[in-house]
Parts: sequence; C-alpha cells; structure tokens
Amino acid sequence: LDPADASLVVDGLAKRFGGIDAVDGVSFAVERGTLTGLIGPNGAGKSTTFDLITGVHDPDGGRVTFEGREITGARTAAIADEGLVRTFQIARELEEMTVLENLMLAPRGQSGENLVDAVTPGLRGRVREEERELRERVWDTLELFEIDHLAEEYAGNLSGGQRKLLELARALMVDPSMMLLDEPFAGVNPTLEEKLLDRVHQLREEGLTFLLVEHDMDLIMEHCERVVVMHQGQVLAEGPPAEIRSNERVIDAYLGE
Ligand code: ADP
Ligand code: MG
Repeated sequence: LDPADASLVVDGLAKRFGGIDAVDGVSFAVERGTLTGLIGPNGAGKSTTFDLITGVHDPDGGRVTFEGREITGARTAAIADEGLVRTFQIARELEEMTVLENLMLAPRGQSGENLVDAVTPGLRGRVREEERELRERVWDTLELFEIDHLAEEYAGNLSGGQRKLLELARALMVDPSMMLLDEPFAGVNPTLEEKLLDRVHQLREEGLTFLLVEHDMDLIMEHCERVVVMHQGQVLAEGPPAEIRSNERVIDAYLGE
C-alpha cells in the first residue's frame, strides 16, 4: 500500500499490562475509503489496539500516523479533532439526557469528557446561527440512522440496538474522516444490524474510512475489502477476505481458541 493512500498507519505498536504483552509490535495500514476488518480470537489485542490509536492508553512503543500526521500518544479529543473517532458507550450522564441532547452535545465532548463545560452556560450562550446549523446536522443525522422518532426519548430508555445507533450517530456528529468500530453489532437484532451496515456502506461511499472489529467472520468476509488478523498481540495475517479465509495460520488460531 502506497503510504499516500493510507488513512491510518500503525507501526510497531506495543502495550504491556503487568506481565502481558496485550499488543506486541503491531503494524498495519488502512487504505483511505475502505471498510477494513480487524479480527482475531478473544484477547488478541484488538480493543487495546483501538485504545492505543485513539489515545485511551499511551503505547509503550511504536507510532500511529493519521493522514500523514503523527498522533502517537495524543489525547482522544485532539485525535477526534483531526478526524479520527471511535464509538464510545453512552456514559451514565448521557443516559439521563434525550437522544436529541446527546447529539447536540456530541461535537463538544464525544467521549463524554468536558460534558460539564458543554452543558452549562456554553451551550445556551452559543451564537444563534451556529446553534441553528448544529440543530440541522443533528436532525439530518437522526434521520440517517432512522432514530428521529426517538429524539425526545431518554438515552437510558433505548434498546441495545437503538443505543448502538445512537453511539454511531454521536461519533458521526464529530464529522470524522475515519471511524473505528469495536463490535458495533453486539446485542443488535438482525434488522438493526442490516440497517447499521447499510449506513456504514453509505458513509464509505461518501468517502469515510472504517476499521471494524467484529467477531462474526462471515460478516467480515462479506463486507470488508481488507482484513487484518490479530492473535496473541500480534498481526498474524493481512489481506483480502478470500486469502484470509484460506490462510492456514488463521484457521489454526481460530481452531485453537
Ligand atoms: P480483544 O479486544 O482482542 O478481545 P483486548 O485488547 O481486550 O483483546 O485484550 C488483550 C489482552 O490484554 C488480554 O489478555 C486482556 O486481558 C489484556 N488487557 C486488556 N486491557 C487490559 C487492562 N486495562 N489491564 C490489564 N490487562 C488488560
Ligand atoms: Mg475487544
């Protein structure tokens, strides 16, 4: 892959927790505009890799470059400002707000940090025009995910699947160029899963880049253009789905689970 075509480049990333090499020299690149899958057995280090990319944890070694800029060890909010976001579970404070309020606040505290800043006088004091534009984007996003009828519902009252839609919608409010999705379909019924996948494909066609962690191998093989396989903190294989599916080392890693 030509570095100029990569949105994200991860190079030699490492993280130890106590005696465990959770991420042990991980290198891969994600081509701009693709839906790339990141798979691997439980405990392979996928979520930790996401945490290292998005500033949730500082890496012990290695580099992360996003759109040509090094973001290694940067804070989550700064990385989101660059256009790289991941979904976060709806925090407790956000459960007590409506779906509409969740989206209104998203651009100013995506991960739920800075929430107090965002709610108190700031929001009300905003210039009207800015608020009007934000409101319009919020409604567009609610419609995109077909949750506009839930606008006044408290986030805490949503079903598991509706919550996933809201998480994705919140992340999208940051106006990212790349999204990291960590098992976005967990606990989602098949109808909603299909809807979410449609939205992902639609956004990808509009130019967004996706890196998707998902345990359903068939789903990954059907929907992703490239697949990265992790096992025991390392990259075991990388390539197009057909190649990955028949890779002996990948088959062994899954059988040995
Ligand atoms: P995956 O997402 O692929 O299932 P994880 O990245 O969650 O894997 O975990 C990789 C390894 O790192 C596992 O052995 C897990 O127990 C360990 N681990 C992850 N996060 C922590 C943490 N905060 N503290 C200690 N160990 C952790
Ligand atoms: Mg995980």
